[in-house]
Amino acid sequence: MMAQRPAFPVKLGQTPPANKHALASPQGLGLDSSAVRQRMVQKLAEQGLKDPEVLKAMGAVERHRFVESALVNQAYEDTSLPIGLGQTISKPNVVARMIELLREGASCKLGRVLEIGTGCGYQAAVLSHVASEVYSIERLKDLHEKARANLRHFRLANVHLLFGDGMLGYPKGAPYAAIISAAGGENLPQAWLDQLAVGGRLVAPTVTTGGQQALMVVDKTLQGFKQTVLEAVHFVPLKSGIS
Ligand code: SAH
Repeated sequence: MMAQRPAFPVKLGQTPPANKHALASPQGLGLDSSAVRQRMVQKLAEQGLKDPEVLKAMGAVERHRFVESALVNQAYEDTSLPIGLGQTISKPNVVARMIELLREGASCKLGRVLEIGTGCGYQAAVLSHVASEVYSIERLKDLHEKARANLRHFRLANVHLLFGDGMLGYPKGAPYAAIISAAGGENLPQAWLDQLAVGGRLVAPTVTTGGQQALMVVDKTLQGFKQTVLEAVHFVPLKSGIS
């Protein structure tokens, strides 16, 4: 394991959009067209996703800008895709489901959100539409840089990319209204529970007693933590240290 260094924020650059994809989907619709995303949103709604704010955010973020050019035609299918270094961008359905869970009961925007596992930056971009501030940590330097490049186009002033070990959270931004992890470990790191605000919610894949990964929801209340285990999921492993 590498020495643990604190995460540090990186400002998103001001350079103008670099890669304008003028690509066509197999159905003949340009991927820049919002109609392609609306069709994806329609499918998400049919799968039972209901939160209008989440559906709006999913319809707004151009997922094809986060995947390799060879995969752009699959960008709006409900599938996870490789993003390099053995990591994957989560399925749209899973991203929407987790953010819907984070927002459950919230009538307005979430406050500060901590995301563990920036990956290509897609989920951070979706979160930026439903939260006041997004702090997103990635432990792999190359992916952290890739996310920064991907997100530059969107100029999201409320997304703060951090390079570091997300198992330590990011104390400077705490307390968080919500914490979301895109990588699953054996246990929930204590730092996440500490950095969650009272009244806040954490959603993370975690290995259950049966040895399977499941989605875990933890609510922090004045009386303590309330934990709920939901459906089985398949996320990449949560690893400590940076690389
Ligand atoms: N939300 C991402 C999904 C990326 S996959 C997206 O939209 O693309 C999960 C990511 O978690 C991987 O990039 C992996 O490197 C990262 N990860 C695993 N353990 C981590 C840790 N301790 N701290 C930060 N990132 C971690």
